[in-house]
Amino acid sequence: MPAALRSDLLVVAGRRQSARDGATTEVLAPATGEPFARVARAGPEDVELALAAADAAFDDGRGPWPSTSATVRGRVLGRVAELLRERAEDLAELEAWGAGHPIGDARWEVEAAARTFEYYAGAANKHLGTTIPIMDPGLAVTLREPVGVCALIVPWNFPLLIASWKVAPALACGNPIVLKPASLTPLTALALGDLLVEAGVPEGAVHVLSGPGSVLGDLLVGDPRVAKVGFTGETATGAHILRQGSDTITRTSLELGGKSAALVFADADVEQAAAATPMSVFANAGQDCCARSRILVERPAYDAFVDAFARATEALVVGEPLDEATEVGPMISAGQRQTSLDYLAIGAEEGTRLVCGGEVPERPGFYLSPAVLADASNTMRVSREEIFGPVAAVIPFDDEDEAVRVANDSDYGLSGSLWTGSSTRAIRVARRLRTGSLSVNSHSSVRVETPFGGMRRSGLGRELGLSAMDTYSEVRTVFFAEE
Ligand code: NDP
Repeated sequence: MPAALRSDLLVVAGRRQSARDGATTEVLAPATGEPFARVARAGPEDVELALAAADAAFDDGRGPWPSTSATVRGRVLGRVAELLRERAEDLAELEAWGAGHPIGDARWEVEAAARTFEYYAGAANKHLGTTIPIMDPGLAVTLREPVGVCALIVPWNFPLLIASWKVAPALACGNPIVLKPASLTPLTALALGDLLVEAGVPEGAVHVLSGPGSVLGDLLVGDPRVAKVGFTGETATGAHILRQGSDTITRTSLELGGKSAALVFADADVEQAAAATPMSVFANAGQDCCARSRILVERPAYDAFVDAFARATEALVVGEPLDEATEVGPMISAGQRQTSLDYLAIGAEEGTRLVCGGEVPERPGFYLSPAVLADASNTMRVSREEIFGPVAAVIPFDDEDEAVRVANDSDYGLSGSLWTGSSTRAIRVARRLRTGSLSVNSHSSVRVETPFGGMRRSGLGRELGLSAMDTYSEVRTVFFAEE
């Protein structure tokens, strides 16, 4: 436990300050269930101050940040990456306390955030307009311009990393940002606000408002000064945001829920697939939108897979975040753990077989041991609904067609994996699966260089890669008459 209760203020116009009405909220450490920080809670007056300053900082594209050359913006973002690396251990410890991440994962997350800023530092001056051949006498060009003030609303599962995925491309394109972290995990986002200013982003372009999404979200989304909303969170919240921003036609990108499938064919290296699967679903205690929470296994390999998967799952070290040996930490909250326990009860009623896990250890904090439910079918609630906890459903299938049909039979379409020893099957099945990302003979999901996002109710638009720059900029066409 940190020695003293941390106390953190909002970042408004680049400066730390209390909420105007003095309100604060406690932040709990998932590992203990006890408060370890007190954070300012923004309200309507703080949103107004932030939006007025951000709007002035944009100034129809003439403000200090949008008018900074893209090359210099890139240099500033490069400095953010350096600062993240310089403060990596402190930030990782803060994330371990605040989000319950095992310290090794938290270090990875800080480094991934630094790589995100590094990538967009390099991309800032390579996001190009075009010259288009036309029939009329004259010259037609397209310009890439910043979209305007960006409200960036992020969840608690990867607080610093998901904030970086939005903040870095938004700033690279020249936009002021208002970042709204999840109420459960505001600390690393607030720390990031300080780093942005220290690195040289003008103060008026940096705002981090912690506080309740139900209040701040509705004030930000639909305000005519907000040109773009970047959101990661629940599908229901995403739908609400789309409705809120509909009158103002607010540009919106959404990264939402998932119920991603891993397909394991009998011709795969089944031992290797089984050994790799636990962390594809139980990393971050299963609180990962890309979690392979449906595992589809071809019937001849089914029993061997379930056995090896359960053994590998039982070998995972569930423990305190600051313990270097820990592979799975606590869940974010008592409520989130209860949701998983409720789904385990539903799974039992639906006739699944609990092969391992599902236990609440006798210790403080929000721990739950990773649970494998075998003999599931894709019609069960445990296979259809996003649990967002350490619960995996293993479903048998008979042939390739059935595997593809079952994998695609979901409201979601975010991520997925395909394990096979046949390259022709890999090509066939990869083409037919309806997911935003897919890995073949691997469970990896996300890379900063490649687009990331979901089909169906998993989202709208793509983050990361150069695709993200498109969503944080407008394309304008200008025609110069020659005659
Ligand atoms: P929520 O949708 O509840 O919250 C996400 C963010 O939205 C939080 O900052 C929250 O604030 C805010 N929020 C809440 N209500 C509103 C509102 N009415 N208007 C605007 N913002 C609002 O999701 P969770 O935090 O519970 O995150 C878990 C979910 O995120 C999972 O469903 C998961 O699948 C999804 N997710 C998707 C990812 C992807 O890339 N596709 C990645 C990671 C998670 P507050 O905390 O104050 O309530």
